[in-house]
Amino acid sequence: MSTTYAKGVPPAAERRLLPPFTREHEDLRDSLRRFVEAELLPHADAWEDARWFPQELFPRMGELGFLGLKYEEAYGGQGGGYLHDAVLAEELARCGSAGVAAGLGAHITIATPPVWKFGTEDQKQRYLVPSIAGTKVAALGITEPDAGSDVAGLRTSATKVEGGWVLNGSKMFITNGCRADYVVTAVKTKPEGGHGGISFFLVDTDQPGYSASKIEKLGWHASDTALIALDDAFVPEENLLGELHGGFKLIMANFQWERLSMALGSVAAMEHVFERTLAYAAEREAFGRRIGSFQAIRHKFADMATRIEANRALTYHALRLFVEGREPLQEVTMAKLLTQRASFEVADECLQIHGGAGYMVEYGIERAARDARLGPIGGGTDEIMREILGRTMGL
Ligand SMILES: Cc1cc2nc3c(=O)[nH]c(=O)nc-3n(C[C@H](O)[C@H](O)[C@H](O)COP(=O)(O)OP(=O)(O)OC[C@H]3O[C@@H](n4cnc5c(N)ncnc54)[C@H](O)[C@@H]3O)c2cc1C
Repeated sequence: MSTTYAKGVPPAAERRLLPPFTREHEDLRDSLRRFVEAELLPHADAWEDARWFPQELFPRMGELGFLGLKYEEAYGGQGGGYLHDAVLAEELARCGSAGVAAGLGAHITIATPPVWKFGTEDQKQRYLVPSIAGTKVAALGITEPDAGSDVAGLRTSATKVEGGWVLNGSKMFITNGCRADYVVTAVKTKPEGGHGGISFFLVDTDQPGYSASKIEKLGWHASDTALIALDDAFVPEENLLGELHGGFKLIMANFQWERLSMALGSVAAMEHVFERTLAYAAEREAFGRRIGSFQAIRHKFADMATRIEANRALTYHALRLFVEGREPLQEVTMAKLLTQRASFEVADECLQIHGGAGYMVEYGIERAARDARLGPIGGGTDEIMREILGRTMGL
């Protein structure tokens, strides 16, 4: 059985036009939805089973312009903006495998933006241009075995040598770490420096000093999550990204967009699993009645629909402020915090409504719940979101 639940799903074109999106964004949504339904959704089950999705998806998406929606045409991009990528984040959430969305999302949302914002012209030509075309795949390597939430605790070192740097250390939980052609890597260039001692390098993966191994995980099965070893990995001088010791600025610069993208994706994912479950409840019978007609089940839908709308309202509010350039730290943090836990709980409620079928792999509902569990951990944990919010209140 396929995990496609077309029944009851409104076409993108019928979606209400909600600010900040315009008709142009909704047209993009239509073409993205057609692409997702034709080229991703039918393969989601096979790619999940294979624990991998084909590398060819990157050049295919590059050809369609989806890898460079927000980047300038001079680099092969579409000359759009963050709102175009917001539509992409929402539509990829409907592809049936958060692992596929994560692998593509790591490339588009977290790995290439630092090259775009902080790269030299030469670095943009060598890394951003092929990334937009999909001929080079990118990963972002910040987390380490002993440093996740606390990035000041990074230990991977860079030692200055003739013509460049030599890197030693390891990176943990890196999305695309096995398939990437290069990793935008955070290292310590000043061991005693704390936040002020971090620098970023563009590390080519086709060298003897780089090795990566895949880690098995609860969800996101189609994505590769890697443990990376850097063992005397050489990085030429010209691959220092941004300022020496100025890496913390690079980390902070993209956090808001990463978290907002996660919030957008989660609202869309909730909506998707809700629609599929609504269709199921309208058909499945128990005690001679459709299960959706039991008050206990109907109320679950009422609560979930209310919750999804509240999550969307906060997320779009944060998005509007973000695209207006208002740096809405509180709103983005709140949206990330609210949506990630909600997405997991909504998927779990949908699993419950499916009964035994919800626990079975073929319905894809258990996948939605497993995949959603990453949200309160990745991109900054719920606890860290609360810490950030506390600090914005002067606490
Ligand atoms: C599937 C997956 C993909 C990922 N992809 C990437 C990637 O592409 N690139 C990348 O760099 N990283 C990636 N990560 C790493 C992710 O960003 C980290 O897992 C996350 O930041 C948490 O760090 P940690 O796992 O080291 O947990 P820790 O920092 O060890 O935290 C453990 C627990 O302690 C809590 N905690 C820590 N500090 C505090 C505090 N000050 N107050 C209260 N509680 C606290 C945390 O909230 C958590 O509950 C990925 C992770 C996963 C699981």
